[in-house]
Amino acid sequence: ETQQYFRPTKAIVDLQAIQQNVRNLKELLQPNVQVIAVVKANAYGHGDVAVAKAALEAGATMLAVATPDEALHIRAHFEEPDILVLGASPVSFAPYAAQQRIILTTFAREWVQQVSTLIANVVNPLRLHIKVDSGMGRIGVRTEEALLDLYHTIQLTKNVELDGIFTHFATADEEDTKYFDSQVWSFEKLISVLPEKPRLVHASNTATSLVKDAHLQFDAVRYGISMYGLSPSSYVDGILPFPLNPAFSLESELVHVKQLKAGESVGYGATFVAPKDMWIGTIPIGYADGVIRKLAGQEVLISGQRTPIVGRICMDQCMVALPKAYAIGEKVTLIGRQGQEVISMNEWATKLETINYEVPCIITARVPKIYI
Ligand code: PLP
Repeated sequence: ETQQYFRPTKAIVDLQAIQQNVRNLKELLQPNVQVIAVVKANAYGHGDVAVAKAALEAGATMLAVATPDEALHIRAHFEEPDILVLGASPVSFAPYAAQQRIILTTFAREWVQQVSTLIANVVNPLRLHIKVDSGMGRIGVRTEEALLDLYHTIQLTKNVELDGIFTHFATADEEDTKYFDSQVWSFEKLISVLPEKPRLVHASNTATSLVKDAHLQFDAVRYGISMYGLSPSSYVDGILPFPLNPAFSLESELVHVKQLKAGESVGYGATFVAPKDMWIGTIPIGYADGVIRKLAGQEVLISGQRTPIVGRICMDQCMVALPKAYAIGEKVTLIGRQGQEVISMNEWATKLETINYEVPCIITARVPKIYI
């Protein structure tokens, strides 16, 4: 759906960068190993439909999301590819999943039993992946008994089919390997007790594949953060096997430029007071766009130069110090590159005391996405 936007604030998503990242990641894999593109949370804030399309074109064969609703949104745009819901789905979603050929994650016998009563009349069997909790402590079966119990329940249940089994690593982005190794060991031990392996065994995420154990591929690898051109951690960033291409930039424009006299102030609370006569620009982006108030003082780029946000960030606007009088309409880059200067997601993450994963996710839906 094309909509016209008038406010000059936008996120630019470089789909070619995403495709190059997918191609580079695919190079790490044996030819028969599938790439699962993780497009949950609106593709980490990059736009799920556009990213899914780009990733599929670049060689991904399957899509993973976190929630039933995300899966339905993807399915409405893509007929063919397998879609896996990584998180827990309510029992009530099962008939819809079967009908829409959406694969669900299961980790409890009771869930399968409750689902069975709802899918007696479906045309396609409901495909399931068992989640193993090998140490993440989130969702999943934790023991051989629970796994076999679930496995046999699935075998005995009409209209359900075991299609896969997977786990997720808690420390793949850290230097230490001990906890990671214990998770691999637990997962392999658990899958070894299955009478028959399902079609898709998968475990690795970005960090596992890039730095921890490139050979731990099983039948598929789930790539999220690296597909978007970001590193899972500073440790991983230091030892990447190839450069990642960041796909996301955040841009706006000056809508007002004025000179403040020394002693005059800017913004709510009048907290910023001009130490000398100075130029101030206003940009139409604020905390309702995800430029949250904690980003006060963060630098932006104007004509290739860094300059800080001054004063408190308002809901829809904020003010920046200008090195000189710029014209209305001058481009302001909040995340991305101008000439030699780059403001990265990592820089925002440091300022916000969080991880880069969170940064594109906090940019709100009010910011239009432009795909290049
Ligand atoms: N698999 C699961 C179950 C996840 O929750 C995630 C993301 O959090 C991923 C794969 C992708 O991980 P990454 O973005 O680190 O590649």
